[in-house]
Amino acid sequence: MPEAEGRRPRRIALDGPAAAGKTTVGRLLAQRLGMRWLDTGILYRAVTAAALEAGLAPEDEAALMGLLARRPLRVVPRSGSPLDLTVTLGGADMDRALRDPAIDANVSAVARHSALRTALLEPQRAVAREHPVIMLGRDIGTVVLPDADLKLYLDASAEARARRRLRERLARGEATAFAQVLAATVARDGKDSGRAVAPLSIAPTAVVVDTDRCDMAGVVAHLLALVARWPDALTTRGGRAACGLPLPR
Ligand code: C5P
Repeated sequence: MPEAEGRRPRRIALDGPAAAGKTTVGRLLAQRLGMRWLDTGILYRAVTAAALEAGLAPEDEAALMGLLARRPLRVVPRSGSPLDLTVTLGGADMDRALRDPAIDANVSAVARHSALRTALLEPQRAVAREHPVIMLGRDIGTVVLPDADLKLYLDASAEARARRRLRERLARGEATAFAQVLAATVARDGKDSGRAVAPLSIAPTAVVVDTDRCDMAGVVAHLLALVARWPDALTTRGGRAACGLPLPR
């Protein structure tokens, strides 16, 4: 059930590094607030999946742009779940297999191209113009929606994030080891933070939430408390508000 109506942020940016729990937390937060939500990682994952299927090199920006020209990307409501947004490429549903390790390993190379990022800006911004939305990603508060009403940045140690990803993989029956997942997580963070265009970074007015001490339900409760305080000084000017500790005054 959506929370009681009150004055609410209409556009919430939820950024953070790989496996910080953004997808789970973003979905639960959106359900509680009755808002749409878009996990923008799936845009880059969908392009990566289509590129790998077509045998294109993730480094070849011209080929990727050709792919997008042939198969335009659209953000659409998921069938049967209209608050939940997904993507199609050339009309084809791209939802399956977007979380495969092969996509994890190649997506940062796709996401570093500047023309490609520019082409994907408009479909993301159009969503935020039309409806109240929670948008998850790396550059939402800095580039996609620099005037978002509330900017949140979820953080956790690389070890905690890798443990989380390992549990997901094992639950899906994939054979993998902690060291491998940790190395892949750290490598992806390095590429996403180190790229020239729209790198992963903390917007100056973002509230940074360290999630190490909390489970996902705890993080959602913590973020709901922040939303309830909006627009106070912390939620509009930014600061740190670790989950599991009292919110700063
Ligand atoms: O969030 P997720 O892990 O699904 O994102 C997959 C990849 O897509 C990231 O590692 C990053 O390279 C790219 N990405 C991005 N900007 C966003 C969202 C994701 O560059 N806003």
